[in-house]
Amino acid sequence: MKYARRLVAGMLAAGALALSLSGCGNSVDPIERLGRKTQQETGKPSASPSAGASSPAPVASADDAYRKWGLAAPVQYAPKPAQKPQLPKAAPGKPAVIDRIPVAPTDKVVFLTFDDGAEKDPQFLKMAADLKLPISMFLTDNVASSDYGHFQTLRDNGSGSTINNHTLTHPNLRTLDLAAQKKEICGQQERLEKRFGAKPVRFRPPFGNYNDDTLKAASECGISQVILWRVSMQITGFQYAEGSALRPGDIILAHFRGPAELKGETETQMTTHMLQRIQEQGFKIARLEDYL
Ligand SMILES: [Zn+2]
Repeated sequence: MKYARRLVAGMLAAGALALSLSGCGNSVDPIERLGRKTQQETGKPSASPSAGASSPAPVASADDAYRKWGLAAPVQYAPKPAQKPQLPKAAPGKPAVIDRIPVAPTDKVVFLTFDDGAEKDPQFLKMAADLKLPISMFLTDNVASSDYGHFQTLRDNGSGSTINNHTLTHPNLRTLDLAAQKKEICGQQERLEKRFGAKPVRFRPPFGNYNDDTLKAASECGISQVILWRVSMQITGFQYAEGSALRPGDIILAHFRGPAELKGETETQMTTHMLQRIQEQGFKIARLEDYL
């Protein structure tokens, strides 16, 4: 896809924080098998035949939703912290730049963020609602606006998800002057306000690329926090900016992407992989805004 190519090209041009999304060497897990296995298990005779032949078939409770989405165990969520962490201070006239939440080293929490908005998979809406995933969305107008209603549904599913600014057209902001950057950021503020009723206060620069003008522009557009990331979800696994494992407070970048960008995997399959990788490392999911 043209958009995907541009994204990869931008990634290659990006700085240290921009985590390349190409070159993923992970093999594709046979997740379809997981789905079939779950079905087979569900199809087995009831383990408690004493319930009686006339009893209706047991309905999976909300707590069983994890099985439906290919997970071996329920997703663990961290409660809202009693005290917000000490965040990096913002320079005068600039928003704070945050790439990891400074939690205690024993506080094994990570945060889910999804960017752009090209893919609008109805199954993902079901998954996010079933699993109650809190997702901080960073939406780019020129790919998300064909169906902002999709993202509104995700925001309003009761999991505390939010909609934030990711520019009008996803440029590498470092190549633009202040006025052009302001147009990209303020323009999306206005679009989001018109569509969703309020201007977000959080912004993520495309590819993680920004400079002083970006911070000035963002501040003038009403942004108080720039949210970056240290871990990027690929198709089946994570790419880390440093080290080879999740760290407490990591902000995870994922994308609203579909089979065309994920080598045939769907958005829900990618998300299942992501949740599996989080579970394997013993981390809980927390809501980013509860810590900001
Ligand atoms: Zn993006």
